[in-house]
Amino acid sequence: MTDPANEARSTVSQLVADREACLLAPYAMHSADTAGRKYAEEQHPYRGPFQRDRDRIIHSAAYRRLAGKTQVFTGEMGDYHRTRLTHTQEVASIARSLGRALRLNEDLIEALALAHDIGHPPFGHAGEDTLDECLAAEGGFNHNRQALRIVEQLETRYADFPGLNLSREVLAGQATRVRGAKPSGSPLLEVQVVEAADSVAYNTHDVDDAMKFGLLELGQLFEVALWNEAQRRVRKTHSALDGDELKRAVLHELIEWQVSDLFQQTTRNLNNHAVNSVVTVTAAPPLVEASSSIAAQKREMEAFLYERVYRHPRVLEMRRRAQSYLLEMFERFTADVSLLPESYQARCPSEGVARTVGDYLGGMTDRFAQQEHTRLFSPASGTDKPSRG
Ligand code: MG
Repeated sequence: MTDPANEARSTVSQLVADREACLLAPYAMHSADTAGRKYAEEQHPYRGPFQRDRDRIIHSAAYRRLAGKTQVFTGEMGDYHRTRLTHTQEVASIARSLGRALRLNEDLIEALALAHDIGHPPFGHAGEDTLDECLAAEGGFNHNRQALRIVEQLETRYADFPGLNLSREVLAGQATRVRGAKPSGSPLLEVQVVEAADSVAYNTHDVDDAMKFGLLELGQLFEVALWNEAQRRVRKTHSALDGDELKRAVLHELIEWQVSDLFQQTTRNLNNHAVNSVVTVTAAPPLVEASSSIAAQKREMEAFLYERVYRHPRVLEMRRRAQSYLLEMFERFTADVSLLPESYQARCPSEGVARTVGDYLGGMTDRFAQQEHTRLFSPASGTDKPSRG
């Protein structure tokens, strides 16, 4: 006799499959074809697997802490600029727009986008470089690898498994971001879309934030071909704009123009390679790409940002301070693990002291790192235990 509860469940999951069969292209990653999870779970009655992944990421502690983590500029510099969380949301928004236009799986795209920077330590790339040096003998520290460590081990929300037990497609997609990874074919289109959206987002918002801080003047951007072309496009309909109005219009155009170009070039690539299934996606070269002229201009913009923004004296000063915070704390915690929260002390025997300290430091927000530094190094702070587990 059929169990009515199971029958209802399979009918609903069939609805998820049917919905995607209507909406998604044949080369999209369909939920019905997922390779599943490390720890088997029953299907949810009405949410698809990638939708559940997305929800698990949003409810994770590591995701919330992105609100307090530096993208390029620290929180103490003001409240206009991007945090790691708002960057992540911009990436998800751009990636979903592109993914929907290409009829890809938006749930998978959103899960990948929301997780893509979840492994960033405090203080942006300065923090990452410091932890990488501290952990050199243990294989180093890399935010993309750390993201996998967080979602597979460090998050503790569920009684039945460690980590978030995400779908294999999300884990494999994140693994392609780790330098030196050697996947056996091209990543899913959903993975490629998130990668493209990441660079559209940060190129544009880093210019915006740098101008707001006075690190860049509008006049300097006229050296950059990508900016000039976007401005030329704005001028076609708004010839009289200048100052902040012009800046905002060009920033908007930069995203609109680049995403449209990605859509058009990717569509051409899909046709040229006769892509009609996930198997043909993985066998083809990467297909989500900018047209060659925009790709060259983007590289020029990135070199410009590196020189004028990421190496700006104000950013470098912040970098030095962040590095000394983390280095000093790393040395103090590894010398005396009793200063760590108990949950981290308990991990030392299996993970090693250095890696455990790296996990603890890597999980901190900028502000918590500063508070912990004060606790450890201010003479008045004593040796109180940290309040956060
Ligand atoms: Mg990113």
